[in-house]
Amino acid sequence: MNVPRYVSTRGGTAPVSFSEAVLTGLAPDGGLLVPEHWPDIRPMLDEWSGLAYPDLALEVMRLFSDLPDSVLREVVRASYRPFDHPDIAPCVPVGERHVLELFHGPTLAFKDMALQLLGRLYAHLLEVRDERLNIIGATSGDTGSAAIHAMRGLDRVRILILHPAGRIARAQALQMTTVLDPNVFNVAMEGTFDDCQSIMKRLFSDTAFKARYALGSVNSVNWIRILGQIIYYIHAALRLRSRGERSVRFAVPTGNFGNVLAGWYAARMGLPVSRLIAATNENDILARFFMHGVYERGPVHATVSPSMDIQVASNFERYLYARLGDDPVRTRDAILTFERTGHYALPGCDTILRAHRVDTDATLSTIRDVHHAHGYVLDPHTAVGMHAALQEDPSADPIVVLATAHPAKFPDAIRRATGQDLAHHPALDALENKPVRCDSLPHDENTVRRYIADRFDDPAPSGTPPVRL
Ligand SMILES: *Cc1c(COP(=O)(O)O)cnc(C)c1O
Repeated sequence: MNVPRYVSTRGGTAPVSFSEAVLTGLAPDGGLLVPEHWPDIRPMLDEWSGLAYPDLALEVMRLFSDLPDSVLREVVRASYRPFDHPDIAPCVPVGERHVLELFHGPTLAFKDMALQLLGRLYAHLLEVRDERLNIIGATSGDTGSAAIHAMRGLDRVRILILHPAGRIARAQALQMTTVLDPNVFNVAMEGTFDDCQSIMKRLFSDTAFKARYALGSVNSVNWIRILGQIIYYIHAALRLRSRGERSVRFAVPTGNFGNVLAGWYAARMGLPVSRLIAATNENDILARFFMHGVYERGPVHATVSPSMDIQVASNFERYLYARLGDDPVRTRDAILTFERTGHYALPGCDTILRAHRVDTDATLSTIRDVHHAHGYVLDPHTAVGMHAALQEDPSADPIVVLATAHPAKFPDAIRRATGQDLAHHPALDALENKPVRCDSLPHDENTVRRYIADRFDDPAPSGTPPVRL
């Protein structure tokens, strides 16, 4: 089969190769990159059903990538090596439902599933091109630590993550600051997460500064973030298939829409998925969209599932593009309408996607009830997905709930829900006494600029395209 090239959802750029798609992240016209055609995996499903996770990952990536098999094999092997479970993403029964544990990577959250691949692909592509990349980003939690663990120790990549001093969970701060590799820079900045993010935005809008220091960013739109997630939907569905299930439903805790989009693409490739249940917390722009067909911005609420406290979901543009018949002109009009008016109505409806909004009380009572009934502790994000799953007809196809984080990352929510101190993980407990490295900076753009200039000063080869995660 011929491997697809990648086109922009807004149609304003020439198609690029897989390697260029990995290195550029966002399309230069502001759109998102998508494959120009999709493989049909139905003929392969029987053959794939006994494969171990890394072998399946290799088969899936080969459909989308023009890199030599030997390179992909090494990337895949190295990416899943740090996982602490032999199945990488085990699917365990919890009552009548199944829980797909996506938290066995180095930072105990599902962002590792794709970012580990991205780090290894960067290492290979930068080596081939003799280039360097300096990633900078602001984080309020999971993405920053998963990115640091994906990039640590890579020769040609440095990573600087800015977090608001004293305002992120202790476990998450330690997951970043205990990484002592010389290519990792942690900065605790005075102020809020929004202050960190607005400094990042200003640095990125300075194109000369960005090119001078070969800066790339951390965001959820890189094609690898999606591709790395398609794999576990296929793996889980095949495991159930080998037990005689012809078709599966998935319930997905949803924020930026990257996770559920990967499942939707898996269905588009012919994976037998009868329903995708997107579960949001009180930040319910997507739930409202799937219930009423209208995409409309609302205020951001702080909840017990902070990695889903998002209003405008960056990956939604890929979904719109597909729903609008892979038509970039209609997609651009839709995005422009939304940007201008804060409102967009999509005609038609989705046959497999359904959404639920799950509030804080329901999230906490689901953690308590599932622990009481089955002795299984859900993290608050996964509990949002579980609550949505429990609203669906139990007699239809089996439901797999995607577990996006280990509960030990959110001990306060677990204590609030159960009154007990149930959430521990040896890897997090072990961080308590480790040495840390973290620089403190005031909330001041020029200080951050100087910090970068002092550390990232190897002139980028001219013509290096800006690289984005
Ligand atoms: C990022 C994240 C989510 C949201 O995933 P999206 O792909 O943004 O929808 C859910 N749970 C956890 C723990 C996360 O880190």
